Amino acid sequence: MIQRAAPAYIRKLFGSSSPHLQGLFEGTKAYRQDNGGLSLFRPRENAIRMQIGAERMCMPYPSTDQFVDAVKQTALANKRWIPPSGKGSLYIRPLLFGSGSILGLAPAPEYTFLVYACPVGNYFKEGTAPLNLYVDEDFHRASRGGAGGVKSITNYAPVLRAIRNARERGFSDVLYLDSVNKRYIEEVSSCNIFLVKGRLISTPIACGTILEGVTRKSIMDIAIDLGYQVEERLVEADELISADEVFCTGTAVGVAPVGSITYKGQRIDYKIKSELVCKKLYSTLVGIQKGHIEDKRDWIVDIE
Ligand SMILES: *Cc1c(COP(=O)(O)O)cnc(C)c1O
Repeated sequence: MIQRAAPAYIRKLFGSSSPHLQGLFEGTKAYRQDNGGLSLFRPRENAIRMQIGAERMCMPYPSTDQFVDAVKQTALANKRWIPPSGKGSLYIRPLLFGSGSILGLAPAPEYTFLVYACPVGNYFKEGTAPLNLYVDEDFHRASRGGAGGVKSITNYAPVLRAIRNARERGFSDVLYLDSVNKRYIEEVSSCNIFLVKGRLISTPIACGTILEGVTRKSIMDIAIDLGYQVEERLVEADELISADEVFCTGTAVGVAPVGSITYKGQRIDYKIKSELVCKKLYSTLVGIQKGHIEDKRDWIVDIE
C-alpha cells in the first residue's frame, strides 16, 4: 500500500528553517593590529560582492551598512578568541540562504542572513611552504554563464572530487582551466592565481568564471604602487612554463608562493628565492593590515 501522509521526517526536512536552493557565502577576517587595536579589511567589498551574487541568485540582500555592522558585531562578540598580532586572525563567514516550505524551482519565500566566526592560523597544512598545484583537464569549477563568478555555496561541492584526487597524489590543490578551450588558466579551488615575468604581473581576467577576490584586487593595487606592470588578461596554461614566479591569493591563504605546477604530466618547478615578488607584495598587505604601513586607500576599518 502506498503511504500518502508525509512522514514526520519529511515534514521536518521541509520545515521553515531548512536551507533552500539559493545560498551565498562570504569570507573575511578580523585582525589584531600591532598596537592591540582590532580591525576589519575592506568589509564593504564583501558586502558588495554578496549583493552582486544575490542579484544573480534572485535573493534579497542586506545593505552594505547592515552587512558591515553584522561582521563588526560578530568580531566584537568573539574578540576574546582573536589571536594576537602575527599569530592568526578571526575568520568571519557571512551566509545568506533561502529557506521556507517550498519544493518548487522558484525563489524561496524567506531568507536568512547569518554570520559566524572561527579563529584561524595558516590555511594550508604546509603553512607557508610553497603550493604544489595540479592542472586538472577533466574537472572544471565554472562554466560560461554559470555561477563561478559569484560566491555561491554551489561552487565548492563540485570541486571536492578534483581536490581529493589531487591530494591523494600529493598535490596541495587544483588549478582549473577554462571549460571551453581547456587552454587558459582560471584559478585554484578557493584562491586566485598570478604569474610573474620580469616586472610584469599577470592574472586571469575575470569574465564570470573567476571569483574576483578582495585579496586579488588589493594585491594588484599594491603591485602597481611598488612599480610593477599589472595585466588582467587571458593567461595560457603554456605560459606557466616560462613564468619566473607563480602565486595564489585569497583571504584564507593570504599570498602563497607556488613551488610546482603539474600540467599534462609535466612538472614545472619554481625557484623559491628569499626575495620573491609575492613575499614583497604580501608583506606590504600584512603591513597595511597590522597598521605599520600607511593605509592610503582606507582599506582598514577599525572596530576597537
Ligand atoms: C573566496 C574565493 C576566492 C578569494 O577571494 P578573497 O576575497 O580574496 O578571499 C577566490 N576564488 C574562489 C573560488 C573563492 O571562493
